[in-house]
Amino acid sequence: MTTTALSMPTASDTTDGVRAAVVTAFGQPLRIERLDLPEPGYGEALVKLETSGVCHTDLHAAHGDWPVKPQPPFVPGHEGYGTVVALGDGVDDLRIGDKVGNAWLWSACGRCEYCRTGWETLCESQQNGGYSVNGSFGTYMLVNAAYAARIPDGLDPLEVAPILCAGVTVYKGLKVTDTRPGQWVAISGIGGLGHIAVQYARAMGLRVVAVDIDDAKLALATKLGAELAFNATTSDVVAEVQAATGGVHGVLVTAVHPQAFGQAIGLTRRGGTIVFVGLPPGEFPAPIFDIVLKGLTIRGSIVGTRQDMAEALDFYARGLIHPTVHSASLDDINDVFSRMERGQIDGRIVIDYRRPPSE
Ligand code: NAD
Ligand code: ZN
Ligand code: ZN
Repeated sequence: MTTTALSMPTASDTTDGVRAAVVTAFGQPLRIERLDLPEPGYGEALVKLETSGVCHTDLHAAHGDWPVKPQPPFVPGHEGYGTVVALGDGVDDLRIGDKVGNAWLWSACGRCEYCRTGWETLCESQQNGGYSVNGSFGTYMLVNAAYAARIPDGLDPLEVAPILCAGVTVYKGLKVTDTRPGQWVAISGIGGLGHIAVQYARAMGLRVVAVDIDDAKLALATKLGAELAFNATTSDVVAEVQAATGGVHGVLVTAVHPQAFGQAIGLTRRGGTIVFVGLPPGEFPAPIFDIVLKGLTIRGSIVGTRQDMAEALDFYARGLIHPTVHSASLDDINDVFSRMERGQIDGRIVIDYRRPPSE
């Protein structure tokens, strides 16, 4: 590995290795452990973390919620922001000292039909940060130099972290609603993803309807520029949205309950597009008659390409997006997960490694 004395991890850092939150078994509390500092392999870089957002996907990963499961022990986290401190061989476009982020799309093959046609997010040989490769819930992580997010200097380390997954995911998801400025979009689920989606939608000139099951989330959405906000448990959301807008042109579903997915069909106007990004385990009813007669498009969307990432970061760097963030220490991770499970997080919780550990 290539290093310089100036930017190498300090002696105490390297002897201490990585202090990480590790999933040792699905559904069990994460354990704070010391791991060996990984050596960057060919095309990889070692990154010293400053911050990492906590995404609901990390909770799904720790629970083994999805059909394709990660292999414990593993370190979750795919909204990690930090500084390159060492380079493996073959890296010619990253320098020590550069600010980078890991991402869910940790790497892709670069050669398959999907990679060749601008759909690297669908690559069947992709690696995923904090899932198939150890992620950012630790003081150091590896990134693939070709796929790591490049982050301009001078950005707020706490605010920029959620852009690396939540931001790019909702930005791409909104793009594929095929809506245009002035049209209505409903954001269903105003959590970490959804509250950022409200801001991208506004920046893209869309009119926003927010839907959640918690009034505090709806108040945040309204503060961030949603024109209408409805609680799905205390109102007839479908009737209210149809009455107020004539049906929305697009829906972005970020919610963590399958109920929101079926409900999205009722929110749209004819010809509308529904984009699913939320990933709760389960299924939803899909009324064939409504989908056919309304000419609806229903599609999934998974994170974004490197180009989507660069664009999403650019919106943030230009001051158009301000994630609502609360900092936490790595030691708080199990508490953060239990609050997330209960839907009690306002915006995004971001682990701050610049805080001294509590041990
Ligand atoms: P979060 O826990 O921060 O937010 C979830 C929100 O959904 C909360 O505000 C909650 O109140 C709301 N909600 C729950 N039930 C609802 C219902 N019936 N109707 C409306 N809202 C409801 O989670 P997050 O980090 O924003 O992640 C959301 C989902 O998106 C997760 O399933 C995550 O795995 C997934 N995700 C997908 C991608 C992708 O690329 N497709 C990327 C990141 C996250
Ligand atoms: Zn590929
Ligand atoms: Zn995520």
